[in-house]
Amino acid sequence: MRAVLLFLLALFVAPVWCAEDILTVLQRSQQMQLEALTEGQVDDDDPEAQVVRRSFERIVAAVDEAPGDVRLLVVRGPLLAVCLMGRVIAANVSLAGLTESERDFVLAHELGHVMQRHWSQLGQLYQQYIPGEVVQAQTDAVASVLGREASELSHRQEYEADAFALQLIRRLGEPDDTPLLLFQHLPLVRATATHPGTQQRVVHLRTLQ
Ligand SMILES: [Zn+2]
Repeated sequence: MRAVLLFLLALFVAPVWCAEDILTVLQRSQQMQLEALTEGQVDDDDPEAQVVRRSFERIVAAVDEAPGDVRLLVVRGPLLAVCLMGRVIAANVSLAGLTESERDFVLAHELGHVMQRHWSQLGQLYQQYIPGEVVQAQTDAVASVLGREASELSHRQEYEADAFALQLIRRLGEPDDTPLLLFQHLPLVRATATHPGTQQRVVHLRTLQ
């Protein structure tokens, strides 16, 4: 999601040459991110990649409704996990080094973004403010209000994905304190335009327990 907002910022400073709607622009930005991540793809027969893949299969099997054409990409790189275009989950191979329940929580969080249709919700918000062709004068006019609303929506979606993941790992019989232990292992993160900080996520998770 962060890439979307950064791309939107770029959109406001760079001219748009040809007539495109905002969904095409958003899609392309995520497609570019996916291509970059694909360069760090880990082979399917790598033992650590297999650990991540098995966890993913377990959590997908635990949801009520089939998630459709969701795809897992196991990668090396700086990010832990991300959901792109509402259907591709890129997960770091280092997840293999976490406990099984922590790994399941991370993957279930990303699956939550898929199942809760967060990508299309974000697209609808952008479309509401930028209907039709993307025109610079129009994007300039809505930049601050759209930026604020997109940020609020992204934060809400992070909390929803955390709630989804907690419910899913409970269903797998994994302990409730899993995400709290996970956050202790990860670097403390401050809130950004797209993500609540670690503290805020911990507070939210405690309200669910
Ligand atoms: Zn998320």
